[in-house]
Amino acid sequence: MNWDEFSHWGKSISDWAADYHKTLSERPVRAQTQPGNIAAQLPVSPPDGGEAMETIMGDFERIVMPGMTHWQHPRFFAYFPANAAPPSMLAEMLVTTIAAQCMLWQTSPAATEVETVMIDWLRQALDLPEGYCGVIQDSASSATLSAVLTMRERATGFTGNREGLATKGNLRIYCSNQVHSSIDRACWVTGIGQDNLVKLPTTGPRHAIDTKALQAAIVADRAAGHIPAGIIAITGGTGIGACDDLAPVLKIAQQEDLYTHLDAAWAGSAMICPEFQQDFWAGVDGYDSIVFNPHKWMGAQFDCSVQFLRDADPQLNTLKIEPEYLKTSGAAVTNYSEWTIPLGRRFRALKIWFLIRAYGLDGLRSRIRNHVTWATEVCEAIRALDGFEIVTEPILSLFSFRCPGDDDAQQRLVDALNEDGRIYLTQGTFAGRKIIRFQVGQFDTTRKDVMMAADVIRDVWSKLA
Ligand SMILES: *Cc1c(COP(=O)(O)O)cnc(C)c1O
Repeated sequence: MNWDEFSHWGKSISDWAADYHKTLSERPVRAQTQPGNIAAQLPVSPPDGGEAMETIMGDFERIVMPGMTHWQHPRFFAYFPANAAPPSMLAEMLVTTIAAQCMLWQTSPAATEVETVMIDWLRQALDLPEGYCGVIQDSASSATLSAVLTMRERATGFTGNREGLATKGNLRIYCSNQVHSSIDRACWVTGIGQDNLVKLPTTGPRHAIDTKALQAAIVADRAAGHIPAGIIAITGGTGIGACDDLAPVLKIAQQEDLYTHLDAAWAGSAMICPEFQQDFWAGVDGYDSIVFNPHKWMGAQFDCSVQFLRDADPQLNTLKIEPEYLKTSGAAVTNYSEWTIPLGRRFRALKIWFLIRAYGLDGLRSRIRNHVTWATEVCEAIRALDGFEIVTEPILSLFSFRCPGDDDAQQRLVDALNEDGRIYLTQGTFAGRKIIRFQVGQFDTTRKDVMMAADVIRDVWSKLA
């Protein structure tokens, strides 16, 4: 392909993109295909000769598009969102075009310096105190893994990387039973082990970790000769939005000299609103590591996960490695690849810069406020449906409900809704029962889209019953 052809196809694809987004709400939200349908349409072997772009694009429309679930659909109420605001997409096009690998300052100074400034813009937006620095990672899973590795190294006097874990005893990590599976996996792959992840019960309307049980578990572990290494708190758990009381958890960590990580992967975006900071974020000052995903609710295209650090040194002492071929001479600079597990890194900060400038924090705040308000409204509409029950009340823009009937009935309703295609929901469990999760957060959703969901649920339910 020459650059004139590239220019032609680039324009035609950007027109396609605008049309796609303008007509998205006419498509079923979830892909309506069976496993294997798409693969069956692809040739089993690669072509030896090149093919025309017309043919490739035609097959993209014909084969690939019917197999896509539309995350940018305004009636996507499943999981948590993966929003991609238009200015963020444009920034990604530029990043893709320049295609720099930004592992060191020297390999793209602008990428490093924009990242440093964007981390500080976000620090201010989330009202974290001065002094916090941070790094942009691909996912919250990677940020959490970095934090758990840091817990491990700190608790072993930074000898685990060198000596291995054979003589280190049982390192223990504490969290509530509402944490995301990425915390379990971080404990698996750091060698700490699932059995040393101590999951504690929750209390209160926001399902916060029981701090008495937390304190007692640490004391009992020390008595048993185990080595407490860290505490992981949550603001906005994935299942039902559980939020820990940040200040008392931090106090215990400080008394016990434990490293702290706060998982706010989803709810962190809402902390750009002062009223939500007040309500959910009190006591955040002092957490050693905090992760939130601008790629979920805020509007930065996937992938983009911000890890704030109170002090970068423990994580750098855990992850930094500098073979000769990565050494650069000259003034002291930040090399962000020393802060993370992968060496290679994309220029992810550009989309944050475009996003925040295009909307302003106020533009982003008003979307999040609307989502929270509309979630409360649609929750009331579902509560009013005959025989329906709200299982967990809205926390920010997430709540869960049940239709009349047993667990199988819940799954039948979810499946029927997703086959209907007008909305997209997923199931979960709470207190041993199957629930249907509902979250509002798609960037361009409207009140009408959200309220329509209650009508669709009633309609689909009445046909099932
Ligand atoms: C989505 C989510 C994660 C995982 O995020 P990734 O970026 O996909 O790794 C972790 N914790 C919580 C609370 C989440 O909502």
